Formats: sequence, structure tokens, C-alpha cells
Amino acid sequence: MRKDWDTYFMDIAYMASTRSQCIRRHVGAVLVQGKKLLGTAYNGAPMGVPDCYEAGCMLVEELELKVTDGKEEMVRKERCIRTIHAEQNLLLFTDRIDREGSTVYVTDQPCWTCANMLANSGVKEIVYHRSYPKDSAKVYELMAARGIGFRRLEAYDPPAETVMEVTN
Ligand SMILES: [Zn+2]
Ligand SMILES: [Zn+2]
Repeated sequence: MRKDWDTYFMDIAYMASTRSQCIRRHVGAVLVQGKKLLGTAYNGAPMGVPDCYEAGCMLVEELELKVTDGKEEMVRKERCIRTIHAEQNLLLFTDRIDREGSTVYVTDQPCWTCANMLANSGVKEIVYHRSYPKDSAKVYELMAARGIGFRRLEAYDPPAETVMEVTN
């Protein structure tokens, strides 16, 4: 069966994520204009400096709101800040003119910082697969305010060989 465009581009985003050198999270993102692929990116340390496999993740502790069965609870979570996020790398490696009116496919729901940058980047639609509940509510609000399409591919299965075991 022929793949639809959403599946096609999300598969490519997952393929890009396999280049990630962060032990904890592998994220890929692609820029699409019309049906044309204009850029691919993944999360990683800046060029020429040690990545997470070489130097270990650079962890910070954060408090995160967790909701289980309607009950809210603050939990301590570790996050790696060594890498430039896939969405940020995508913006660094594409041109503004190519981004006007484009769509970004990203394996994971953007964090607040990435969403904030994407909201100002010319992109008109963002499609993601894995949820990131921490920033979800405020990111949806931001996208609505900016008139940027924001949707999750619910019934999507990434190619098995592109999904890596990560510790969380
Ligand atoms: Zn890391
Ligand atoms: Zn991010």
C-alpha cells in the first residue's frame, strides 16, 4: 500500500532521529514546503564538541507537573541540556524564505522553547508523533494564538529500525 504524505514525512523525521547522539532522547525534524523536503535535523551537540555518548548527558533537575487519573503531582525529573534540539537545528540550517508557509514534521511534540521559536519562524503547520505532556497545554495555546496548525499523528507507527531504546 502506498504511504500517505504524513506517514512519508514522519518516517523521514524518524530516520533523521537515528543520527542523534543523545543517550536519553532521539528527536528528528524535517521541513516540508508543498510536497518538497527542504531540510532535515536531529538533536545534537554543536559541531566539534563532545556529544552525550562521549561526555555523558548534561543533566539538570526540574520539577514537572504530572497528572495521573486527574490527580496533580509535582515530580522531580532529569533533562539533558547538552544538545541543540532538532527543531532548533532545523531553524539554524534552513532559510527564512523556505520556511514561509511550510510544515514541520517532528518525531516529538516540541518543548516550550522550540515551540516559541517555531511560532516566529514562518512555519504554518507542525505535525508531531510522540506526546510531550509537560509543555503541551501552553504550546497548544501559543499555536492557536498564532494561527499555526498543530496536530498529532495518532494512528502512526514509526519504522521499527528507527526507534531506539532510550533511558528516561
Ligand atoms: Zn544527552
Ligand atoms: Zn525543544
